Amino acid sequence: MSDTTAVTAPVRNYRGRFAPSPSGPLHFGSLVAAVGSYLDAKHHQGSWLVRIEDIDTTRVVKGAADDILKTLEAYGLYWDEQVVYQTQRHELYQHIVAQLQAKQLVYACNCSRKQVKALGGIYQGHCKNLALAFDNHALRLTQCHATSHYHDLIQDEVVVDSGLAHEDYIIKRSDGLFAYQLVVVADDIEQKITDVVRGADLLEPTARQLSLFKQLGATTPNYAHLPLAVAEPDFKLSKQNYAPAISKQQPKPALFSAFEFLGLAPEQELLSASIEQMMAWAIERYHLNVVPKVAQIQISQSADNLTTHFTHIIK
Ligand code: GLU
Ligand code: ZN
Repeated sequence: MSDTTAVTAPVRNYRGRFAPSPSGPLHFGSLVAAVGSYLDAKHHQGSWLVRIEDIDTTRVVKGAADDILKTLEAYGLYWDEQVVYQTQRHELYQHIVAQLQAKQLVYACNCSRKQVKALGGIYQGHCKNLALAFDNHALRLTQCHATSHYHDLIQDEVVVDSGLAHEDYIIKRSDGLFAYQLVVVADDIEQKITDVVRGADLLEPTARQLSLFKQLGATTPNYAHLPLAVAEPDFKLSKQNYAPAISKQQPKPALFSAFEFLGLAPEQELLSASIEQMMAWAIERYHLNVVPKVAQIQISQSADNLTTHFTHIIK
């Protein structure tokens, strides 16, 4: 046996990721998720991957993926492995669906969203025994691993609605697109992600994702859900409500604000450092414990979008 084992080897092989949907440019809310996941990975001497979640082609905006990548670079957020695009991974997703089908866990459903809504919003298994053809129908997964609570590294114990936890949710849509819940789990497994750090808007979907990890016999990652940047309580900044794009030319103010948002308490002087120095400062200082343990933080931005104020913390 050789005795060359490095003494400084990382404690574990941490692999984190940032997974933006290319439906528009990065805004302050997505910057927080990018910076939070990056700092957590670097704090653990881990790898930080970028995955472009372009599976829902109906929401993809031309040029947005490239713009997001350029923005990440402008903010000193450099990824460690080749960027992955979901639209190039259909085979992986189809393989997972086939695996579930082989276990008789998938059934086709032709209920409309309206019908499900009329019955209380939670799908009750109406089509389960109808043996409808798989083609041209939505595919649902028979839920055998209902997960109604889990531990989150920031939000602590998360409890989700039991109806939602038990629901046979859709893994492939009637238009033929693979559903977000399926692809995100397929990707996290395939990319060997150990730690998922993202916004608290995904607290509920996480329960479903955990159930799929268990169904597939895969090890579940750690989850840490960062507070969500909201314009008003329960009104998240998003591409859909036209949250302004963050500046690629002047990245320092928004980066500084993201550090503040994440509880790093930067001093004004940090703004005279370079982006690389700012990031090195943040990696040094970062620890999951400094992140506010709340689900939402209300922010307001100046008209030029360079200054961000935090008005108050909710929940
Ligand atoms: N693509 C999702 C979004 O932009 C994030 C998914 C994830 O981090 O798991 O909201
Ligand atoms: Zn149905």
